[in-house]
Amino acid sequence: MNQDLANTIRSKVDIVDIIGERIPLVARGKNFFGVCPFHDDTNPSMSVSREKQIYTCFSCHATGNVYTFLMNYEHMEFKEVLKYLGDKVGVDTGKISVSKKTSQLDPYYEAYQLSLKYFQNNLNSSVGKRAKKYLFERKIEESLIKEFEIGLSLESHNDLTSYLTKKDYSLADLNKIGLSSDDHDIYQNRIMFPLHDVNGKVVAFSGRIYEENGQNKYVNTKETPIFKKGEMLYHYTIAKEECRLQKSVIVMEGFMDVIRASSIGIRNTVALMGTACTKEQENLIRRLSPNVILCLDGDDAGVQATLHLGEQFLKNGIEVKVVSLPDGDDPDTFILKNGKERFEGLVESALNFSDFKLQKLKEKVNFSSDEETANYIHAVIEETSKIEDEIHREVVLKSLAKEFDISYNTLEMRLNHFLQEKKEKEPIVITKKQEEKKDKYTKAFEQILYFMLYNDWIISQVEKEKLIFPLEVMRSTCSEIIYYYKKYGTINVADFYTYLQGKENILTFLNHVLGGNYLEKTTEEELHLYFEVTREYSRKQEIKRLTNLMKKEVDPIEQAKIVEKIRKLRLGEY
Ligand code: ATP
Ligand code: MN
Repeated sequence: MNQDLANTIRSKVDIVDIIGERIPLVARGKNFFGVCPFHDDTNPSMSVSREKQIYTCFSCHATGNVYTFLMNYEHMEFKEVLKYLGDKVGVDTGKISVSKKTSQLDPYYEAYQLSLKYFQNNLNSSVGKRAKKYLFERKIEESLIKEFEIGLSLESHNDLTSYLTKKDYSLADLNKIGLSSDDHDIYQNRIMFPLHDVNGKVVAFSGRIYEENGQNKYVNTKETPIFKKGEMLYHYTIAKEECRLQKSVIVMEGFMDVIRASSIGIRNTVALMGTACTKEQENLIRRLSPNVILCLDGDDAGVQATLHLGEQFLKNGIEVKVVSLPDGDDPDTFILKNGKERFEGLVESALNFSDFKLQKLKEKVNFSSDEETANYIHAVIEETSKIEDEIHREVVLKSLAKEFDISYNTLEMRLNHFLQEKKEKEPIVITKKQEEKKDKYTKAFEQILYFMLYNDWIISQVEKEKLIFPLEVMRSTCSEIIYYYKKYGTINVADFYTYLQGKENILTFLNHVLGGNYLEKTTEEELHLYFEVTREYSRKQEIKRLTNLMKKEVDPIEQAKIVEKIRKLRLGEY
């Protein structure tokens, strides 16, 4: 590894920018805070320090520098990150070649890549004429066909299978990855839409009929070693960059909707491929942007799904907005009928989820019935109590009071009742893990290591003191610090992290120490007080050893010698 190059590049990037591009950060005091992406959470438990150029999570203790963040968050290897950041800050990383990790799964990805090209060729050859005609009639033009890598499977029953077996794929493998069933193709005479995993690799297909033949409209690849339906979103890798620019993510049902939106230049979109949203998909959406806009189909199923998903997201701390389409439309048909501007208008005037919910509630009420009206008012107040913003709550109540000619105070009393109930139900959130109990010796040793990381002068003091740490991992951390310091003339935690890549036990230990409550600076006098504690520890250990020795000793003269040694140790004379 080229540590100097890594340090140069690291010194030119700001970890706050890099993390901030991926998860929303809020400044508080010297540090920035965000929701930690490395464990399941909705609280901002990760702090990012501009000064130290490191991040630390109070809850799961993940910590590291800009390299470790990108390696873990983007699933990149170190060299890839180096190249990526080098390009970003204009440092030449030309000589570094990104070694491709080989994995058992590679042949599967290759099979999908081959199939993709194969399907694309079919569509572009004369056998693809009828399918092309269908696509053109749906206003899926050449440019979209290319952009979304749309292809065609043939009517023949084993075309792809024999193509791939000729390339040395076994039928067993092709069956396993969902391209063949026994010796025949799974997809026959369908327009093929490739589905990509979160890294952008093709891992599955969705095949659509294009001529009415009584078959299922869509056939999707089954779950395979490389395709987990609940862990992917259509269009995710492209949406990533676009959502950052647009500062929002639009969630749709079908990939046809995403394709249509792209045709009018709207690309901060993903499709669920249905109406269900797993926890993993929810996390992916959250990663794209904290501003989620649901834009599902306008039919009743779409509305029900919107209500359900909105509630699910809200429960997990994501506030969503809702675009409602006319019944019978999905984003695809709406855009086709009404054009770009009308659609953009809808997105811009998207309703807060709570308002949407109230609107839906209202549609069902028969206001000539007093009972239904009263029930409705109660329901509105209950919904209002879920709104976080006080002013927003007041606005809703005021308009409710006006609409039904009820005193504001009566409504407010009812609201306070719900607010109180909600407060009582709220779980107490603990973001910071309970500090484990450590004895004073462990604390002293860890504090000394912590000092070493931030103060060059302490490193030489520790060497002079010939300090012996009690644990193997402490000893190796100490010698790595000393080694690094001697080699580079100074130490800084962010760069030291880079150097430690691959030394997992030290990294884990360091994460643990950095997550502790330790001081950064000290005086020489104080440092020696810490050394004194460590000496006390050594003496205690030695006393323990001698006491054991004594138990085995039979010679009274030797015993006396040991007793004397122990006595002196107790007095602190050694
Ligand atoms: P089209 O406009 O071509 O009819 P759509 O986007 O309107 O497509 P919907 O029927 O709204 O399709 O379905 C939304 C999504 O749900 C599709 O993109 C597809 O991924 C998934 N889906 C729909 N029907 C099926 C099915 N029979 N089997 C598997 N997945 C399906
Ligand atoms: Mn449609």
